[in-house]
Amino acid sequence: MAKHILVVGAGLGGLATALRLAHRGHRVTVLEKTDQVGGRNRREWVEDCRFDGGPTLLMMLDPFEKLFRDVGEDFQKVLPITLCDPSYRVFYSDGIQIDGTPNMARMLQEIERVSGPKDARAYPEFIGRIAALYDASIPNFVRNNFQGLGSFASPRQLARVLKHKMLSNLAKQVERTFDNERLRMLFSFQTMYLGLSPYDAPWVYSTLAYMEYGQGIWYPKGGLPTISEAVAEHAVKRGAEIRLKSPVQSVNPTSVTLESGEVIKADAVVVNADLPYARKQLARKPPKKPWRNSCSAYVLYLKVRGDLPKLLHHNVFFGRDFKGNLDALFHSPRLVEDPAFYACVSKRSDASAAPEGYMNLYLLIPCPNQKFPFDEAQRQHLRDQVFNRLDNEVGFDPEDIVAEKSRDPNTWQSELNLHEGAAFGLSADTFQSAFMRPQNTHDGVYYVGASTIPGNGLPMVLISAELVEDRLRRAIDS
Ligand SMILES: Cc1cc2nc3c(=O)[nH]c(=O)nc-3n(C[C@H](O)[C@H](O)[C@H](O)COP(=O)(O)OP(=O)(O)OC[C@H]3O[C@@H](n4cnc5c(N)ncnc54)[C@H](O)[C@@H]3O)c2cc1C
Repeated sequence: MAKHILVVGAGLGGLATALRLAHRGHRVTVLEKTDQVGGRNRREWVEDCRFDGGPTLLMMLDPFEKLFRDVGEDFQKVLPITLCDPSYRVFYSDGIQIDGTPNMARMLQEIERVSGPKDARAYPEFIGRIAALYDASIPNFVRNNFQGLGSFASPRQLARVLKHKMLSNLAKQVERTFDNERLRMLFSFQTMYLGLSPYDAPWVYSTLAYMEYGQGIWYPKGGLPTISEAVAEHAVKRGAEIRLKSPVQSVNPTSVTLESGEVIKADAVVVNADLPYARKQLARKPPKKPWRNSCSAYVLYLKVRGDLPKLLHHNVFFGRDFKGNLDALFHSPRLVEDPAFYACVSKRSDASAAPEGYMNLYLLIPCPNQKFPFDEAQRQHLRDQVFNRLDNEVGFDPEDIVAEKSRDPNTWQSELNLHEGAAFGLSADTFQSAFMRPQNTHDGVYYVGASTIPGNGLPMVLISAELVEDRLRRAIDS
């Protein structure tokens, strides 16, 4: 029987939930605080340059394909995608560069060139190990609505954990595999996508390296925000209503109150706003012990005159002291010296993203969350460091910046309500993963998105929508 379901927040998690529920015939109303759908995956414009607002790497296609298949559509027809190959160019502080690629033969050549035959021999076995880890972990631990320790720790699940050493330390496993320090960084830094240091991460997160090197990085025509826009469009086609500029003030299991004072009653409420913020501010049910947050990001969207031909679509820059950099982000928050950062020029894959004679340069500099104040001094420091490095490596001149916008821990918090400005949500460390992560229902309210199960990143958020739909179905149908 059709029910009325409210979804608070039009991030990808909220939109995917709305699409799934509307497709099943429910009446769905999405209430979004800002004037745009997508949340972190929204579009940004700087004059006539188009930017992906947050996510730029489309990986792990299966949850995208599944969402569209489940509602009778074909993902690749709705959103044509192309493979970025090379995936990215990596710049090390000693001037060495590596082009990462999912093409085994070319990747072996790259490894042999920078490190020699021993590490090249280790690579195919490494890919095989992380492929097996991926196949064991995604269906059994990621796509799983845990009902507590019992459902996690069954003998079969424990056997999988032990067989694949899932909970061992990621950085140590990679150190044992490769002798070359540059390769160790290359195959472990992906946990930064979760706002997590590889030195603190369980080995199971090397599945991220598998997504890049085993499956590849993709780009949808029009940029990653087209995914949010397409999901919203298909939800609306099936009858969902999306109300923008409708900030919610409080929620309970059967109603929400908007900041305007309007009260809307419903059969169920699903909250997509960042879980730690929502539990505290909207549901007034904060946890007994505080959770740990991920780091944040200073993101610059720059319209730049001319071109920097050495930059590919995706580029990673490592500083001199990778470990010290991670320590400043995660353990003793402080100004990061010579930071690692990421640069993106989506115009390389999509000429329409910037006009002739200009480029759309997106820079993502990981920085501490609001536990370490993001002030003018930190902003200037990070800009100076990153602009100098870009000047040395690719000939960037800040004088060529024509116009710009930015986001930082303070604006992630004030505009999108990300708790403590943690751009990647709750930390995904071992004790905030799987059944130990805040689950997707609490005191009768449902949660979907990056800070609940299974975790951060667009594919995970889509799986989060699968899981919350499953929980709702059982609750509503019973
Ligand atoms: C800089 C950056 C780079 C990233 N790069 C990648 C990447 O390359 N690949 C990848 O897969 N993932 C990436 N991610 C992660 C990915 O963006 C997130 O995991 C995902 O977008 C989170 O979606 P969500 O639905 O959980 O929440 P959000 O996108 O945060 O959406 C929540 C929505 O709730 C709304 N809201 C909040 N409070 C209220 C309220 N009171 N009332 C109404 N609405 C409210 C917000 O406005 C927002 O629209 C990146 C994230 C960041 C920040």
